[in-house]
Amino acid sequence: MKEIIAIDIGGTNIKYGTILEDGTLKNTGTVPTEAHRGRTGLLDKIEEIIIDKLKDKDYTMGIGISTAGQVNSYTGSITFATDALPGWTGTPVKTILEERFKLPVKVNNDVNSAILGEYWMGAAKGRDDVLMITLGTGVGGSIIRDGKLYYGSNYLAGEFGHMKLYPNGRPCVCGLNGCYEQYASTSALVRMVNEELEDDKSSILHSYSHIDGRAIFEAEKEGDALAKSVMNRWIFYISWGLASLIHSLNPSIIVVGGGVSAQGRPFTDRIKEKTLDMIMPSFAKGLDIVPASLGNDAGIIGAAYSLKISVEAG
Ligand SMILES: [Zn+2]
Repeated sequence: MKEIIAIDIGGTNIKYGTILEDGTLKNTGTVPTEAHRGRTGLLDKIEEIIIDKLKDKDYTMGIGISTAGQVNSYTGSITFATDALPGWTGTPVKTILEERFKLPVKVNNDVNSAILGEYWMGAAKGRDDVLMITLGTGVGGSIIRDGKLYYGSNYLAGEFGHMKLYPNGRPCVCGLNGCYEQYASTSALVRMVNEELEDDKSSILHSYSHIDGRAIFEAEKEGDALAKSVMNRWIFYISWGLASLIHSLNPSIIVVGGGVSAQGRPFTDRIKEKTLDMIMPSFAKGLDIVPASLGNDAGIIGAAYSLKISVEAG
């Protein structure tokens, strides 16, 4: 059985592993990205990982790359990356690695890789019309339509975080305003809690040294009224956006990823319950909203799958 070398490049860490054709994952590891070293530093690091993993070319099908930023998956170049990966914008990753290693290379962005991983081996296995939404600092998204990743004309499809929720709403990092991620991201949850805390001196969250998503979930479980009320508002916002996506794309399953996937079914069931109140009944038939199940491995598994299907397609 052939092996695929898979690498998932994030702003903080690079995760890597070897994945067999049947999806078996082995030899995983993580190294710091050290993004401050820029493009050359990052490419050196990726090459080191590949050299270390590449035992025998005859048994290696190719290299699958998942990376933060916007990616043209046809050319395998980085269309745009934020300051989280300085100098990464414009890098022809596929061309560089194919010339260096004489193996097929496939490059996708992180959320597209994650949905492919969940589709191949995780929460969306066997489902053909899948949406993934990742809740974190921002809100990411990706679409599988008829069993294939939907890229869009400029390979940018799935930027759910910048759907418009409110006219004249909060300013967004994209330069526009009223975007979904300003209300539905984990950062938005934390912001809303901090705003409310100024007027509510009784919340147990005042005793927390650091307020993040996990702390808010915990406080809600402890019965904190403020945490519960803000959490309900946050779930309303998340569901409000999902309702538009469901009406536009009619998925059979929505996979919720990001750190919140650790909260499991109890969290996604609340989203589902709220969302069902916001959509036409015909769209609710057979619809599942579930947590991602592969955690941090989704990126490398999806990167490997993308390489595998592109090699198999010729
Ligand atoms: Zn935006």
